[in-house]
Amino acid sequence: MMMMKLMNVRIPILHENYYFDLVIKDGYVAEIIAHEGLRKVERLFSFSLKDHQESESEWDAQGRILLPGMVDAHMHLDKSHSLFVAPNKSGTLLEAIQSYTQASERFTDENVKERMRKTALTAMAHGTTTIRTHIDFSTKMSEDTTFRGVRMALELKEELAPYLDLQVYPMLPYYPYEDQDRKKIERMLTMGVDGIGGAPHISERPLECVDEIFAYATKYQLPIDLHTDESDDPTVDTVLYIAEKTMEANYQGKVVVDHLCSLAAMDHAKAEVVIMKMKEAQLGAITLPAANLYLQGREDRGVVRRGITRVRELHEAGVPIATASDNVCDPFHPFGRGDLLQIAQLTGYTAHMGGNKDLTTLLEMITEVPARLVGKQEKGISVNQKADFVLFNATSVETLFAELSQARAVFAEGRWVAMTSVDRQVVVNKPMTI
Ligand SMILES: [Zn+2]
Repeated sequence: MMMMKLMNVRIPILHENYYFDLVIKDGYVAEIIAHEGLRKVERLFSFSLKDHQESESEWDAQGRILLPGMVDAHMHLDKSHSLFVAPNKSGTLLEAIQSYTQASERFTDENVKERMRKTALTAMAHGTTTIRTHIDFSTKMSEDTTFRGVRMALELKEELAPYLDLQVYPMLPYYPYEDQDRKKIERMLTMGVDGIGGAPHISERPLECVDEIFAYATKYQLPIDLHTDESDDPTVDTVLYIAEKTMEANYQGKVVVDHLCSLAAMDHAKAEVVIMKMKEAQLGAITLPAANLYLQGREDRGVVRRGITRVRELHEAGVPIATASDNVCDPFHPFGRGDLLQIAQLTGYTAHMGGNKDLTTLLEMITEVPARLVGKQEKGISVNQKADFVLFNATSVETLFAELSQARAVFAEGRWVAMTSVDRQVVVNKPMTI
């Protein structure tokens, strides 16, 4: 029997001002007690794993911020850390795709799985306990290359299952399909994947590509998550057709559309029509600010468009919108570390969200909203649910966003699974804490 009391935490997505005491028994939240002032507790919380060996413990979190385990609803683990073998000189989406596809023939099982594991565990150390990863599935490659990413992702899913929930979404190819492509797709769809991904707007015939994706999804009863309209061209509006197909297939609530860059480029009247259609079809949305800031607007001179979708308008219209990491250190995006708090801050910059209420909304965009989009409504902090959370070394939401506090402790599957401490010492005349 394991019991831990974590006293005096703040959970801003539950309440702005209250403090909470959490009682964790055998990995489940047994009690949540809300109170207005800090309570006196003997032992201060430590961000060091060696201090957390006892089966019963009580800690004073001193008003630190706690969030449910974060949900990164859009990553590409297979591509991560591939920049050194797949450069991108022009910095465009097109060259990124070409360069990565060429390099992928030279990958090995071990190399791909090692990079995926590194990125997933780094994300976990930052507080992410659920990841939806898109995986390349190019049927025009050698047999080995075509299936490598999906095979490795499914193996990693099993390996990490005790700590981290990994959802595997292979991306269906862009081009018109021939029989041999269809055979490979059907084989892949019976391997145990969690859903179907793709990027139909890049296809030669986008609408037919959407048709194919829906045909496979309904046949195999799988949800859909699509890279959608990742373009600065305001006439690109595949999302309208995806919304139509969603309603026709009775797939409301099972389809997520990501990027939506062209929604930002089109005029307001058309954008409103698109947003209303998305709402009607109950599409979920994901903005990916890091990769879009890097890839979009490459043709622009002077005022360069940032390619970020209409985050606030979607949110205000009631379309659930999450924010996520996308690519990490690869030809699509050369930076990143799988830290959703950093992505939430970047979303604050790009979507002009920095007011007090905005910060809470940004925290929801990396926790509750993506949990719903990936089908995990139970995620959150509530009694009788699995205890799955991250504690930050920050006592206010403003500090959390300003400092992106790196000292964190992550709890999942009944134990602390990652802790990071930061030792900062400042000396001005005498040692002092700031
Ligand atoms: Zn992506």
